[in-house]
Amino acid sequence: MTLPFRAHHFLCTAAFRGAGYSPQFVHHYTALVDTLSQERGTTRLEVVADADTICQPCPHRTGTQCVAQARIQQLDHRHGTVLGLAPGDQLTWAEARRRLAEQVSLDQFHWMCSGCRWKKLGVCEDTLVALHQEFQTHAFAPEHRPPQTFTASAQCVAS
Ligand code: SF4
Repeated sequence: MTLPFRAHHFLCTAAFRGAGYSPQFVHHYTALVDTLSQERGTTRLEVVADADTICQPCPHRTGTQCVAQARIQQLDHRHGTVLGLAPGDQLTWAEARRRLAEQVSLDQFHWMCSGCRWKKLGVCEDTLVALHQEFQTHAFAPEHRPPQTFTASAQCVAS
């Protein structure tokens, strides 16, 4: 099975922490994220230009479109440009996570996610920093490198 994904939903999904547009939307998104986790990154995803698997229960969906279609298309265009993805491209969730880590700098994040209501929460930026660290690509953001000496002393204090 290949799940349809809008380009901007790759980072949204990596950053999903249970917030959303309705209880049904959150329930559906939580189940999707659980599936991606259980399948250990092997789930195949296909980039689409219109409503995807995440959009299905969204109260803002009208058929294959969004009530804010122009703004959402801009998000898709910017995310697709940075990630090098276009409608029809397929990749696994593991490949998508690596691509996020390797191709999205913090500066690009602030550009590609501008205009999104969730951005100010900081969760998506934190997720990207965590991906940089997981894939050792945090050279993108020197100010976010893990404070190794601090971590070591903190462990001493805690123990
Ligand atoms: S800021 Fe918005 S568009 Fe960007 S990853 Fe977060 S939820 Fe998605």
